[in-house]
Amino acid sequence: MDTKYVFVTGGVTSSLGKGIISASLAKLLQKRGYRVTIQKFDPYLNVDPGTMNPYEHGECYVTDDGAETDLDLGHYERFLNVPTSQANNVTTGRVYQTVIDNEREGKYLGKTVQIIPHVTDEIQRRMKILGDSGEFDIIITELGGTVGDIESLPYVESVRQLKRKLGSDDSVVIHLTFVPYLKAAGELKTKPTQHSVQKLLEAGVQPDILVCRTEHKLSKEIRSKISLFCNVNQNAVIESIDASSIYEVPLLMEKEKLDKVVLAKLRLPSTSDADLDSWKDFLFKLKHPKNEVNIGLVGKYVELPDAYKSIIEAFIHAGAVNECKVNLTLMSSENLHEDTIEEKLKGLDGVLVAPGFGDRGIDGKISTIKYLRENNVPFFGICLGMQCAVIEYARNVLGLKTAHSTEMIKTIDPVIDLMESQKGISKKGGTMRLGAYKCKLEKGSKSYTAYGKQMISERHRHRFEFNNTYLEKFEALGMKAVGINPDNNLVEVVEIPTHPWFVGVQYHPELKSTVDEPHPLFVRFVKAALDNKK
Ligand code: GLN
Repeated sequence: MDTKYVFVTGGVTSSLGKGIISASLAKLLQKRGYRVTIQKFDPYLNVDPGTMNPYEHGECYVTDDGAETDLDLGHYERFLNVPTSQANNVTTGRVYQTVIDNEREGKYLGKTVQIIPHVTDEIQRRMKILGDSGEFDIIITELGGTVGDIESLPYVESVRQLKRKLGSDDSVVIHLTFVPYLKAAGELKTKPTQHSVQKLLEAGVQPDILVCRTEHKLSKEIRSKISLFCNVNQNAVIESIDASSIYEVPLLMEKEKLDKVVLAKLRLPSTSDADLDSWKDFLFKLKHPKNEVNIGLVGKYVELPDAYKSIIEAFIHAGAVNECKVNLTLMSSENLHEDTIEEKLKGLDGVLVAPGFGDRGIDGKISTIKYLRENNVPFFGICLGMQCAVIEYARNVLGLKTAHSTEMIKTIDPVIDLMESQKGISKKGGTMRLGAYKCKLEKGSKSYTAYGKQMISERHRHRFEFNNTYLEKFEALGMKAVGINPDNNLVEVVEIPTHPWFVGVQYHPELKSTVDEPHPLFVRFVKAALDNKK
């Protein structure tokens, strides 16, 4: 069978949930037995989002192969439970870099290098890489941005060209739009959708399916009106009503028959129904918790929850396993001071100290950890959070008063220090320790109990590490390195065995939590918080 292509564009406004619609459609197709993957094309000029501030772009999602990517890839993995890679995320920066490199190498010798055909050819080449691998039956390509943006044009043009080459049975275009409700008029309005489709038509692309984001149900009349004015079949006008959880969207799309309409358009059989039992089971647990816990998330990008997207979602998965609602409070570490910490952390059953960069808010993180350690409150530290736990222990238990990370300050006790491999690196893009590395866990540790095995693989994104010259001192005084990278001896996990649950990890477990496989450390941490409540 030929690889089939689904393109997902967005109109009217951003933030309509293209990533969730793409992931939901992919889930339904996967549950019908198709091999599906999703790729995201982002129209900005950064080569990847790794150099962007979380306030600009939300979380930077890291894949096994060490690509720094858009956070939508996190949704793809959480829904599909299939790893993505660098090939799943392309940016304009990456496309232009290749075209300019080609030009310098003389590959277009004699020609004027232009957006069409050179940039659009490169976009199409990249759109087909995963399809040509033979590993997938259906490739869903999500175009970032909104139709009508100047920077989106080369992508829409590429879709037009590729659609023509692929033929109408092998490709389908889904356009996600917004159908607003005008309170004063008391009705839903279709005009923005009509205009958005006109914008696509100007670029030569007729959408096959319209997914209409709306706060109210679409009546039959509204559906026929959209169908008539936008030139799509009535059964291809799909309602996407606001849901209480993103995990409900696959079921809503199933009800609207989005997967069936797509399969019919691609001339693929849709005889057997999607088996969504395990998904429904997860949703049931999510919606009917028997318990609840209060967990604090201490970080410095708290005004923008998207900066902690994967952590927030990992708590949703772990909550469902424990049949418990996790009330997550995002707290700015800049507002946490030693003298008021007890007051601020009151009522929390556990606290996660977040990853991050730079010294803003670092003291608040260290004071928080001291309180949690001394008061036996479950603590989970991720990356910078783990590094802060090491600094706190060095200062207050080992008595190394000036202990710090050399990321923050030059000190005589650099308990967290730059990795050897990082010394001499000055370029910022893609130069951290990135992607999956192995780790061996010590039997009997809390982490080992959680994972149920000794050898694990987790994803990284950092430059600094535990300084092994201090390891003996730490272990002698009660903080153990229970997870070690077997190839280079770097400390991956620290624990305090005498504490009810004190675990710090150098890697990012949140990136591997999915609906099908909630992350064991999050599951255990939520359980520890529940136990702490009793
Ligand atoms: N800033 C720290 C480092 O680079 C931690 C990074 C992180 O939390 N992702 O090592």
